[in-house]
Amino acid sequence: MSKSYVIVAEVRDGKLRQVTLEAFQSVALVKEDGDPVSVIIMGHQISAIAEQLSQYVSGQVYVIDHVDLKTYNAEIQFPLIKEVLNTLNPHAVFLGHTAVGRELAPMIAAYLEAGQLSDVIAIEKSETEVLYTRPLYAGKAFEQKKFSHTPQVVTIRPNNIVAADTIDSHAQIITIDYVPPSSLRSIVQDVIRKTSGKVDLTEAKIVVSGGRGVKSVDGFKPLQELADVLNGAVGASRGACDAGYCDYALQIGQTGKVVTPEIYIACGISGAIQHLAGMSQSRIIIAINKDPEAPIFKLADYGIVGDLFVVVPLLTEEFKRA
Ligand code: FAD
Repeated sequence: MSKSYVIVAEVRDGKLRQVTLEAFQSVALVKEDGDPVSVIIMGHQISAIAEQLSQYVSGQVYVIDHVDLKTYNAEIQFPLIKEVLNTLNPHAVFLGHTAVGRELAPMIAAYLEAGQLSDVIAIEKSETEVLYTRPLYAGKAFEQKKFSHTPQVVTIRPNNIVAADTIDSHAQIITIDYVPPSSLRSIVQDVIRKTSGKVDLTEAKIVVSGGRGVKSVDGFKPLQELADVLNGAVGASRGACDAGYCDYALQIGQTGKVVTPEIYIACGISGAIQHLAGMSQSRIIIAINKDPEAPIFKLADYGIVGDLFVVVPLLTEEFKRA
């Protein structure tokens, strides 16, 4: 008997988040041929995204499009998700391990009385089982887990599983009418984004991160210039955030964001274990630090011992030329 898979897509600033395509690939890794895959998408003026999504799934694309859904609000979105799930009776539901996914996944799991595996970074399937890998102890160890029953809820850490390609299909798009709830406890009036630059930090392929060594708010400017040239995002250590050099929205680490870019450039960051928890899975780590004994060099693939205010502008100039 075929099993039904559901992906809860995520839209931000009118664009589909990359992690949704990574969730498609995750489902492709676990499902059997012929298992239907459906997607739920909510937002405002998202018909083009729904059309795009229809090329990735073999089931249906459930679209709920309304101005009330322009910004994320679990109080509005969760009842809509429940409505769709009731019709699909899913074997498994996949979401991104983002702020949105981290809030919705346990709500969905509780509603479905499902088991949940969070922050999955790799999936292995054999003839008999599917194993999900997730980091433990702030990235110092990894565990492989499998589900013992269904339904299942899985969240995927961004930037770890390769995004899916379109499939040879054009799924049916089903528009669901949105009826505003009669009462709401909370309403999102405005979103004030504190991160800098155009690229989302958790999805950036390149992150240029600054620590206490950056020394001031202005000290982040050369890092932003390097990030802009590389089409990357700026991050920070908690040391830099605590010192008031940047907003906490940029903080990477155990109590901040977890990033896994292709390249992580740590500038003036010592490499405390709590910082490593948020970036140690990056593909290539480049450290710039004037102290040759800084612990970050033990983890780094490439180390530059020097003053970041000299090295970073030189790198920017070189990359501009390239
Ligand atoms: P420092 O350790 O002060 O390092 C600054 C570095 O800059 C030094 O290595 C110095 O050599 C170098 N430097 C100085 N000037 C220059 C220059 N001109 N050029 C090049 N290099 C220079 N930290 C996080 O980052 N993220 C977290 O999520 C986090 N969570 C925490 C949770 C808990 C419960 C606790 C207790 C701590 C947490 N921390 C976290 C804090 C962490 O322990 C460190 O204090 C913090 O990461 C240090 O930040 P830093 O590397 O920027 O500063």
